[in-house]
Amino acid sequence: MQRYRTTERMQIRLLASEVLRVKSIVAVQGMELTDEIQTMIATQVAMMVFGLESMEDDLSLDWLRNWQQILVYPTPFHNGRENVLGFNGILLSRAAIESGETQYQGGIVINWQDDHPHPLRAYANQVLMHEMAHKLDMLDGDTNGHPPLHKNMSEKQWFAAFENAFEDLNRRIQHGKPTAINPYAATNPAEFFAVATEYFFEAPLLLYRTYPKVYQQLSLFYKQNPIAK
Ligand SMILES: [Zn+2]
Repeated sequence: MQRYRTTERMQIRLLASEVLRVKSIVAVQGMELTDEIQTMIATQVAMMVFGLESMEDDLSLDWLRNWQQILVYPTPFHNGRENVLGFNGILLSRAAIESGETQYQGGIVINWQDDHPHPLRAYANQVLMHEMAHKLDMLDGDTNGHPPLHKNMSEKQWFAAFENAFEDLNRRIQHGKPTAINPYAATNPAEFFAVATEYFFEAPLLLYRTYPKVYQQLSLFYKQNPIAK
């Protein structure tokens, strides 16, 4: 929060209280959801989208329209799926321990252990912002690393920035080179956008130095410039 100006902090607090009013944050598996934790979660949501709403829009929460609740597990959880192989041996569904999950129709699932504020680890790891990014991505119908862009943005520049970075990351991994950002981003363009969002908010300088054009596009999208603050 320190990086934001006083007026921005007010907007974030106001939006966070709106989030608490209209969305539900639900504890599962013995998670203890204190008021403080709920406020922290709502504040993270608000920090991501406050720039997208103007005061004139009366904080319509339009960018949050495709989900209603956040389930909070105390620790990483089993995704409840089984391993399912397709006819050609491709894994269609995988049983796994997840730190977060977002479904196209449904809410956001996180675990508090991985969401708790922390001094930056080797990799930025912000599960709520990651899952929120997936939800923003899904607003235009596809989960493809492309959320609905603002009028002043260029589709062409967006795709150029993200495709180049995605290819660079995949090349580095193929050649066994170290990667500056979490290699999980190389999974597919949707994961790249979600992981890049984590860095944008948690390690903006690292993202800027590694993929400046991705940083620039995210700055246009989130209408924030975390480095400058
Ligand atoms: Zn993801």
